[in-house]
Amino acid sequence: RSISSQQIFDREKKYGCHNYKPLPVALAKGKGVFLWDVEGKRYYDFLAAYSAVNQGHCHPKLLKVMHDQAQTLTLTSRAFYNNVLGEYEEYITKLLKYDKVLPMNTGVEACESAVKLARRWAYDVKGVAPNEARVVFAEDNFWGRSIAAISASNDPDSYSGFGPFVPGFDRVPYNDLAAVEKAVSRKNVAAFMVEPVQGEAGVVVPDPGYLKGVAEVCKKHNVLFIADEVQSGLGRTGKLLAHYHDGVRPDIVVLGKALSGGVYPVSAVLCDDHIMLNIKPGQHGSTYGGNPLAAKIAMAALQILQEEKLVENSAEMGNVLMERLRRLPNDVVTTVRGRGLFCAIVINKKYDAWKVCLKLKENGLLAKNTHGDIIRFAPPLCISRAEVEEAADIIEKSIREF
Ligand code: PLP
Repeated sequence: RSISSQQIFDREKKYGCHNYKPLPVALAKGKGVFLWDVEGKRYYDFLAAYSAVNQGHCHPKLLKVMHDQAQTLTLTSRAFYNNVLGEYEEYITKLLKYDKVLPMNTGVEACESAVKLARRWAYDVKGVAPNEARVVFAEDNFWGRSIAAISASNDPDSYSGFGPFVPGFDRVPYNDLAAVEKAVSRKNVAAFMVEPVQGEAGVVVPDPGYLKGVAEVCKKHNVLFIADEVQSGLGRTGKLLAHYHDGVRPDIVVLGKALSGGVYPVSAVLCDDHIMLNIKPGQHGSTYGGNPLAAKIAMAALQILQEEKLVENSAEMGNVLMERLRRLPNDVVTTVRGRGLFCAIVINKKYDAWKVCLKLKENGLLAKNTHGDIIRFAPPLCISRAEVEEAADIIEKSIREF
């Protein structure tokens, strides 16, 4: 018996927590840049699961690796060694040029692990007095939904009604280097954590030189620079990591989402020995973190990005898409911004961005608004030129219908 979209909406409403407001589309299948709903209608996926599906839906190589490893060994816990984790650790650290990796599962866990590493480094290396370490974040940051993550947030939807919060966190405006310098020059600061391009804030690209300045002031004041590349990393912006655009090397890099190509939760923290080795056996961990299935998947996901030149394609197709978006009528679309295939448009407040997303859906393209008036366009990085053009036609048609 086949189930209708409406039945799917109703069942979730009845039995699930109402912590999301999904677009009314019920998906049943994915392949490459496309998704199909339960009625068989095809859509361009212009969200790519918040950039987790950079490699495209149901990538055959990824599925094969996953299937083979799933039939061999999936989870041992870290109480024992497994024969895949070390291979993955060697692979990712050589690729991204850090001494060590700490494997976790979700983005929020990896970001929290980075904060723990920074605090521990502050006590053991920098010499901050016990329990006095501070971590600085940028305003409008988003790194997940844990108590620590919402303690860093200035979005009332995220934090209201969930206190008390984690102490020792400060915030400075994004893209304001002077504010960073002032904050990190204070006593007891362990780290400044920042997204090289802010994702959930609405694809906010900082000025050229901002990240370089951040790296300099952090170094000057002996504070760790943590790059949260969970959304911006792994090809999304047209470089393997978004901070490569600025020629900087953060002390700690956090990855998630596309590290598995959307088939399994895999995240990671990368840094050098003088930071990583302060955490000793028994002081941090995760039952699933570093399991052999995750390790195989992550290696395949990283290989696909390179073999299929998805990073280069993101840069090229990003230019094509941006060019088309810039031509949209500017009484409806007030701003266009982005880097690589990480793009966003801002809808004039006279119009309703949710309704624009409904119209896009009707015309065969899925995207979701953030903060009311911003619509992010971030398709899988395997998108072809013809597909970008066709998707842009859909976007243009939809906007013109307003
Ligand atoms: N960091 C950034 C920059 C993110 O965009 C997100 C999720 O959107 C996270 C961290 C949290 O990742 P997860 O939802 O896997 O916990």
